[in-house]
Amino acid sequence: MTNTPFKQIKKHLSEDIPEDLIKKIPDKWEKIGDVLILTISKDLKKYYKTIGKAYSEILNCKTVLNDIGGIKGEYRKPNVKRIYGTDETETVHKENGIKFKIDPKKIMFSSGNMDERLRMAKISNNNEIVVDLFAGIGYFTLPMAVYSKPKKIIACEKNPTAYKYLCENIVLNNVVDIVEPLKGDNRITAPKNIANRVIVGYIGETNKFISTAFDCLKNRTGIIHFHDKFPEKDVPKIPLNNIQKIADEKNNTAKLLKFKHVKSYAPGIGHYVFDIGIEKI
Ligand code: SAM
Repeated sequence: MTNTPFKQIKKHLSEDIPEDLIKKIPDKWEKIGDVLILTISKDLKKYYKTIGKAYSEILNCKTVLNDIGGIKGEYRKPNVKRIYGTDETETVHKENGIKFKIDPKKIMFSSGNMDERLRMAKISNNNEIVVDLFAGIGYFTLPMAVYSKPKKIIACEKNPTAYKYLCENIVLNNVVDIVEPLKGDNRITAPKNIANRVIVGYIGETNKFISTAFDCLKNRTGIIHFHDKFPEKDVPKIPLNNIQKIADEKNNTAKLLKFKHVKSYAPGIGHYVFDIGIEKI
């Protein structure tokens, strides 16, 4: 039988942690660059440092963070606490040839969205202008700029920390000629009547931003990639109704081209993306 990293960690820790508790050490983790994020049971509190040391050594990470409660607020700030390693948590995460500079203590990175980052990488072309309304550190913008090479991507981001990394990542990935970062609330900063494609990559209250997305489109024609979470039973009917309502107000047609389950959000609730084709009536 193969000696997986988890088996090595478990064996290592079984010297320090009693048998009834060793079962509770996490067999999954998020590795962002050389920073590791674990979700550790409170029952193991006494052993956090020992656990952090073992994972750090076996998985070769400079810092281990404990996830103590999901992602918070409109900036999507992770709720994590350092349990082992250096306090300097800035790192460069590499995925499919893209470099994402990030501080996982301050900014989220969702491994679960990797397939969607890959899909966005290939979906555009060099005739398009794209607006990314929730660019973050460049989750969709960077792979799209590197692999699809559109004429321009205008990348909006409100959180100053995420915006700083977005700007650094544009340089790091050599896409300065393609990506134009815009700091601030996209409802104020997003350009109007310019885009062939708009990415609305936000979970929770995404409805509030559909009108802004419509206004970005050149001649109100193009494609919107609309993300949000919904009860599985409501998909695609409810989200489509929401979009259709705004399309009607704006004298547009909205056609569902495709929808995809991105990842599970909670039991019975999924994060979905809807590709909507918009045209003028
Ligand atoms: N779609 C991303 C992915 O694939 O991982 C995750 C979403 S991203 C974290 C959402 C970003 O939108 C955050 O960086 C947040 O600061 C930003 N944001 C929230 N409200 C905003 C607004 N009104 N205008 C511009 N950016 C905003």
